[in-house]
Amino acid sequence: MLFYCSIHARMPQGEMRKPLLGGAAEPDVPACDLKSPAVGILGTGDFSRSLAHRLLACGLRVIVGSRSPDRNADRFPAGVEVSTQRDAAAQAHVLFVALFPDHYSSLAALKGELAGKVLVDVSNGTTLNRSRPSNAEELAALFPESSVVKGFNVLSAWALLNGPRDGSRQVLICSDDFQAKNRVALLARSMGFVPVDMGCLSSARDIENAPLYLFPSWGSPFLCAVCLFFSFYIYNFFRGVLLPYVIKGHNVFYKLPVEMVNETLPLVSLVMLALVYLPGLLAAGLQLLRGTKYQTFPMWLDRWLCMRKQLGLLSFFCAAMHALYSLCLPMRSSARYKLLNAAFKQVKLGQESSWMEQDVWRMELYLSFGIVALGVLSLLAVTSLPSVGNSLNWREFSFVQSGLGYAALSISTLHTLTFGWNRAFDPGQYEFYLPPTFVLAVLLPCIVLLGRLALALPCLSLRLARIRRGWETRLHQVHFRLPDEDMSTV
Ligand code: NAP
Repeated sequence: MLFYCSIHARMPQGEMRKPLLGGAAEPDVPACDLKSPAVGILGTGDFSRSLAHRLLACGLRVIVGSRSPDRNADRFPAGVEVSTQRDAAAQAHVLFVALFPDHYSSLAALKGELAGKVLVDVSNGTTLNRSRPSNAEELAALFPESSVVKGFNVLSAWALLNGPRDGSRQVLICSDDFQAKNRVALLARSMGFVPVDMGCLSSARDIENAPLYLFPSWGSPFLCAVCLFFSFYIYNFFRGVLLPYVIKGHNVFYKLPVEMVNETLPLVSLVMLALVYLPGLLAAGLQLLRGTKYQTFPMWLDRWLCMRKQLGLLSFFCAAMHALYSLCLPMRSSARYKLLNAAFKQVKLGQESSWMEQDVWRMELYLSFGIVALGVLSLLAVTSLPSVGNSLNWREFSFVQSGLGYAALSISTLHTLTFGWNRAFDPGQYEFYLPPTFVLAVLLPCIVLLGRLALALPCLSLRLARIRRGWETRLHQVHFRLPDEDMSTV
């Protein structure tokens, strides 16, 4: 353990983080201490080469064990010793097993040399493993006299080669041998990565599965956004394109690619933003109703609460797309023709000005609310980045996510209401007995905002604050009795 500490202390910081390869050029390799114990790597593939580069750049002595050292030696930079697997196993105290798990059994002949050594299993699975033993556990079963540590598999060969500046910095590590785990953690730190202790070797399956997940927390929020988008789009299509064509013969199919998408995106954004704050209200309502916070929420509510960040980011994405589409609207030929036609009609009527004071104000307010809402949503999106969120304390974070979040929801709702203006009360807007989509879209945000206002009433907010501090209604209070009390009552 001391060995890696001393190396780390000796190495200047800049030197350690130096990129190893600039294209095909040889890396600027610092001299390593030839007397120090070597770090071994078994296998000469892509991962092995990148790892050898990185270890060498950290000033460590590296010995690579290969089945055919002569054939593979020239694939490694000068300074890396390429030898037989037996030689590497004998010389190194820590050995990275950079082979595919199918080939672990080929190392069985080295059991004697590997006894008492630390073996780092860097392998990944090819499919999600939910029940089988992990690769690391299989390696540990093959070499019971060695200490197996799982780690480094979450880094790609590319990330290893480029160092921690470019790729992820975290290295998940687990082992049943505490000392061996510490040793590998220090080694990871000396390479500029951040080791994360995941506990015993039984966690290896999770670590091996980690690179195989495909956006695990985004599935439901994404599905929700897609469903909302298609529901509003199809509704808009029926109401604004298909029915006018069938009933009145108006051909406005040109609206489908841009105008209709632009009408749908803000509706999805607004409803998604309301969905971010609705589960918090439901949770507060449940706590008030139950009179305690010590009862678990239903599973669906728990899951909904966990996906608020993703719902918020998707809402921001739709709002940003709506802004882009809106900026592009005047570029379309249809917009140009419409403008010219309106101007021609005006000239024909001999009308000098078409200025409508109320319409001008409506548009100014509508745009202003939209710009501010997008600005606040951008702030929320930025603070949800881990690097930014981690720099805020709890009060700052909850002010941004709750205070600014509700501000964004209120301003976005105002943006939609100014778009609708008095049209919500105009019977002419309910053509084919179908309400305009903005009426449908503001329903949920209005419910959420009214719910939030209700929770701000002192009678509810004080009770909720007490419940969240641990107070419970009598119904839930557990009365403890001292043994003497029991005796006296008998
Ligand atoms: P690779 O390029 O295919 O190299 C594997 C090495 O295994 C070969 O160079 C060879 O070395 C040895 N080998 C091949 N066939 C063998 C056999 N039949 N018996 C014994 N040894 C044999 O693989 P890799 O991409 O470096 O990956 C190695 C391990 O790292 C895998 O477990 C992988 O999951 C893990 N990993 C890789 C990456 C990555 O980005 N590549 C990222 C994370 C984890 P010799 O001929 O010199 O013996």
